[in-house]
Amino acid sequence: MNPKITIAKSKNSGRKTPDKKVPSLQIPAGVLIGAHTSTSGGVSQAIPRAQACGFTAAQIFVKNNKQWFAPPLAESEIKQFRAAQAASGIYFFAHNSYLINLASQDATMFSTSVKSMTAELERAEALGLPFIVMHPGSHGGAGEEAGLRRIVQGLNEIINTTSGFRCRMALEITAGQGKALGYRLEHLSWLMENVSNEKRFGTCLDTAHLYAAGYNVKTREGYEETVAQVEKLLGTKCVLALHLNDSKVPLGKRVDRHEHLGLGEIGLDCFKWIVQDPRWASIPKVLETPKSEDMHEDVANLKKLASYMR
Ligand SMILES: [Zn+2]
Ligand SMILES: [Zn+2]
Repeated sequence: MNPKITIAKSKNSGRKTPDKKVPSLQIPAGVLIGAHTSTSGGVSQAIPRAQACGFTAAQIFVKNNKQWFAPPLAESEIKQFRAAQAASGIYFFAHNSYLINLASQDATMFSTSVKSMTAELERAEALGLPFIVMHPGSHGGAGEEAGLRRIVQGLNEIINTTSGFRCRMALEITAGQGKALGYRLEHLSWLMENVSNEKRFGTCLDTAHLYAAGYNVKTREGYEETVAQVEKLLGTKCVLALHLNDSKVPLGKRVDRHEHLGLGEIGLDCFKWIVQDPRWASIPKVLETPKSEDMHEDVANLKKLASYMR
């Protein structure tokens, strides 16, 4: 269920910004596009990294994504992030930790997940981020209906303790690996219909997850059918972000493995259709594909996309 974002370690790990100048991307004005960006060294360090690559949008974790909790963000760090983000003009949003599982039937795992997700939402709100992408959860054998009901319970607890927050939660479509929920658009629409305040939510569509879940976005017909389903079940306005990832696994395989654009099972056409589709024109789009520390792979992937925007 997790996007495999691998940051390769280099001998220079620990430096704060990329030291290699990467060629700037020619992104047309108003297009929000980029990649998941490391916050190593502090959350505000993501900004120079995204700038160095020429991103106009970026996704970040608001704390170490492999830990349940983190010390509170220092006021100075929040100020630094907000000022640098505003100056950069880059659209930043968040992704939640891989540990959080609101579908868990285990009382301790469930309450820890609610607390951790609430804390992440508080951090994202403090940083002024518009939304945090989250995986709905994994039912662990209890069954899909029980899992979905548990997620609604968790989401309602979170929104009750964060009333007035501007930061929304974007429920991401998943590959449906193992017992993961959220691999059908119907799961996402059911969750949104059943939470106590739908306005606090949106969705995030990930191309690799869609494809692995059985939505054939590789063909034009399948792409149009998938978008029609999104329109019917959620409304395209509900889509807060797109994750542009090719898939290492074939259609419907229900395994979450991201690949560079054009090198996987989906191929480049889908990504061309997305960046040329007026329905997604104002939606931020980010890559979650394998990368090294200087992110040159992201720049190479985005160059392919930029060529379709001209
Ligand atoms: Zn995700
Ligand atoms: Zn994703």
